[in-house]
Amino acid sequence: MTDLTDLGVAAIRDGVATGAFTATEVATAFNTAVAEANDALNAFIVTTPDAALAAAARVDAMRAAGEPLGKMAGVPIGMKDLFATQGVQTTAASKILEGFTPEYESTVSAKLWDAGAGMLGKLNLDQFAMGSSNETSAFGNVISPWRRPGDTAPLAPGGSSGGSSAAVAARIAPAATGTDTGGSIRQPAAFTGISGIKPTYGRCSRWGVVAFASSLDQAGPMARDVTDCAIMLEAMAGFDPKDSTSLDLPVPEWSAALSSDLRGKKVGIPREYRLDGMDADVARVWDEGIAWLKDAGAEVIDISLPHTKYALPTYYIIAPAEASSNLARYDGVRYGLRDLPQGAGLQDMYAATRAAGFGDEVKRRILIGTYVLSAGFYDAYYTQAQKVRTLIARDFSQAFEQVDVILAPTAPTAAFALGENSDDPLAMYLNDVFSVPASLAGLPAMSVPAGLDRNGLPLGLQVIGRAFDEQGVLDAGLALEQRAAFSARPAKWW
Ligand code: GLN
Repeated sequence: MTDLTDLGVAAIRDGVATGAFTATEVATAFNTAVAEANDALNAFIVTTPDAALAAAARVDAMRAAGEPLGKMAGVPIGMKDLFATQGVQTTAASKILEGFTPEYESTVSAKLWDAGAGMLGKLNLDQFAMGSSNETSAFGNVISPWRRPGDTAPLAPGGSSGGSSAAVAARIAPAATGTDTGGSIRQPAAFTGISGIKPTYGRCSRWGVVAFASSLDQAGPMARDVTDCAIMLEAMAGFDPKDSTSLDLPVPEWSAALSSDLRGKKVGIPREYRLDGMDADVARVWDEGIAWLKDAGAEVIDISLPHTKYALPTYYIIAPAEASSNLARYDGVRYGLRDLPQGAGLQDMYAATRAAGFGDEVKRRILIGTYVLSAGFYDAYYTQAQKVRTLIARDFSQAFEQVDVILAPTAPTAAFALGENSDDPLAMYLNDVFSVPASLAGLPAMSVPAGLDRNGLPLGLQVIGRAFDEQGVLDAGLALEQRAAFSARPAKWW
């Protein structure tokens, strides 16, 4: 029998349905792979092998009883530790939530369990999803399964969904949930040679997802290929009355409609994304991507997104502003950590708890956020950033009058070594240069693995689509995937 851990979502689901193997065998194989790898990769904060086995047993029993099976039946997955999971510690990789065990289940995770998926464990991430390398986790860095040839220096798996990307790339999970506020599904997918899609803002409920920047946060799937992403997104998406920004739209059958035939489609190449001094390998893979989409029948057109250069500063005002407000609830009263020094009053408890519980990057964002929202600076920063956000969104709507999808790199470089950018927040923020514009505009965007750089590390290509047009994004992603034929995988060292 093939190694079950080599299989993705569709292959596992279909194999379980036809009886080629049982869901219990699949869960056991992945539980074993997780146990073997996790000390080295640190991808999971907690593992839940019993939850995976229990879900698998339910699916096996349903199959035996001839009951209809869900879209994810028998597929064990990793759950980013930003999703509240009933009875299982949920921390957002922060000390301030250590030991917090929710009484409720997030809508997205509940939908996945209803669809027959099981939970392998809670995946590590950047603290409160703030970061691009996983180095801000209070539970230690995730280590990418990838290495440069002849070099054992640990590499970043990307962030903030770095536990998710590392687990899928190392084949200790066939798929994982991610969340993307400014690129946290796409950039880690690109760094580790996997696929991931951030759907249109509002497609996936934010209910029960620890909030970072509520006007940007979106959940999405991370998996080995485009088809698996489409299947998993169908299970995750859908209207939720508990989230006031949830889209009240039916969930299309994206996986059934997938087509890599792009005849009649127009693809835009944004000239502002071609940065001076761009990494030569990133530029080469982008050019190859353009040729692949032409080969798939698309017409390629140069477009302009003139406000792109303001996207990073806009994002790094709006996201911290919203974070400072969202994170005000961690005060030692209701959740997790409480630091109550002897004889201290309420204010002292707030200060001591927040000082002890939040990491440096989280504190930096809270400080920036409260500053840009302060009475003296609100108009200069926050109001201005909101106006520029509107202009960035307008650039996209104008571009989508001419083209159906946009093709760009996902990240400006391949994975960097841990420690390489961690002392320089601005260098770290620059990683998000290609991913934040689609986030600010709320558009669906996906990364697919497209090639390797000169060090043998994966590079991703990003497809950005019109609001609600996940199908267009997935179709172009599939056309790229078929032509890139990316088959590289990290050599096992763990
Ligand atoms: N790297 C970006 C940040 O640090 C994006 C994070 C995310 O999408 N959650 O904010």
